Amino acid sequence: MHDINEIRQALKQCRGTVGLVPSLGNFHVGHQSLFRKSVADNALTVVCTVLVPIVFNDYNDFLTYPKTPEEDLKKVDATGADILFIPDPKALFPGSLIYTLQESQFSNTMEGLNRPGHFNGALTVILKLLLLLKPDNLYLGEKDYQQLELVQGMCKEFYIDTKIISCPIVRTKSGLAYSSRNSRLSLPQQAVAASFPKILKSLLPIDETKKCLEDNGFKVDYIEDYNKRRYGAVILDSVRLIDNVELP
Ligand code: AMP
Repeated sequence: MHDINEIRQALKQCRGTVGLVPSLGNFHVGHQSLFRKSVADNALTVVCTVLVPIVFNDYNDFLTYPKTPEEDLKKVDATGADILFIPDPKALFPGSLIYTLQESQFSNTMEGLNRPGHFNGALTVILKLLLLLKPDNLYLGEKDYQQLELVQGMCKEFYIDTKIISCPIVRTKSGLAYSSRNSRLSLPQQAVAASFPKILKSLLPIDETKKCLEDNGFKVDYIEDYNKRRYGAVILDSVRLIDNVELP
């Protein structure tokens, strides 16, 4: 479904609760775990893909981000989710970004410091979807924990009643968090990438963690502890990976 009025009509007819899963598309089993959770909890599940430049700090990253709507629809169907909503960016942003939402603290740290503007774009898109679709429940992955915290803060600040459901990180057998970007890794690179969560979890002091990652071939964007959680972002041969673990 692409049309904003059409989805509004579909939601009007729904008698039970509505679950929303916002995404950038190119689905994998990590995304599907969110779809399944929403299907289990709600009468109607809307998966929404909004792939627009404001969510990316780097225009080239937006251009090269994998776009797979046909495969995505099959993956949505396989979980029993009801609607894949891909709004026309021009309909969603008719005002050419005159209005955007800005968080001026936490969004400038870690992921935000390394990808300036990214969170303001993501928050603007999610706020628009929340106001447009008025879901009862919003499903977000712990893979993007900083985003999860920022959305929680935004909903509290703007009196949005939608309940936020945080969903655990789904990992490959080797421990690497599933990510759309993993498809850019060769098999040998995937084996190296799997050491990233292991090193993050080892809970060495931050400097030693960085050194250990560099020794394993990663370029480190950041490793930081915040609110009993260790966050990290690394680059392996131009593929950027993020992860986070709970601190004891
Ligand atoms: P994205 O399409 O990357 O914006 O992701 C859409 C949603 O899926 C976000 O809430 C992500 O945190 C979540 N997600 C992505 N990868 C995973 C994963 N491996 N495990 C759990 N949730 C994930």
